[in-house]
Amino acid sequence: MVEVKTGDFVVPGDFLATTEEFVPGEGAYEEEGKVYSSCTGVVLVDVRTKRISVFSKTATPPVMKRGDVVVVRVEEVKDQSANVSIGVLRGYEDRQLPLPDAGVIHVSEVRDGYVRDLSKEFKAGDIVRAKALDTRRTPIRLSTVGEDLGVIMAVCSRCRMPLDKDDSKLRCKNCGNVEFRKLASDYRRGIL
Ligand SMILES: [Zn+2]
Repeated sequence: MVEVKTGDFVVPGDFLATTEEFVPGEGAYEEEGKVYSSCTGVVLVDVRTKRISVFSKTATPPVMKRGDVVVVRVEEVKDQSANVSIGVLRGYEDRQLPLPDAGVIHVSEVRDGYVRDLSKEFKAGDIVRAKALDTRRTPIRLSTVGEDLGVIMAVCSRCRMPLDKDDSKLRCKNCGNVEFRKLASDYRRGIL
């Protein structure tokens, strides 16, 4: 059942069709058997190729979608979640993200396995690479499960100097402090 027709105007997150009938084309994405618009624009339903696309009339700013990789800064670490601000979207490093830019990493989406103490995974001020799980609501839900995701830059809680990776730990060359984080495999070697 197609909910929209060619020429309809839609915004990000609008339901377009089920995946039983259509595959997402440009400007559309699939989630749990449904195709949604990932941008603001005009729908094109291609019955022949079973493809449904959304074309923006003007050059639009980037819109985050599920699976996008972003760089965020940790603002606050609570028992069950860390609040972050989203800085950069991969592929659009030179552009400002449109609002909303608030994200959240739930304790269950930090790493494979159980996390007992979230403050040993993230601290306020950490720069983290994360993946978007759901961008249709704010704060945007993010995950750092995976080797390439996690903290890419952290400073010492005592003296604010950048921490060095030392096996699975972080160590401060300046004051000797040892700290723990959910690290990305390329800690302090990569940005995006
Ligand atoms: Zn230190």
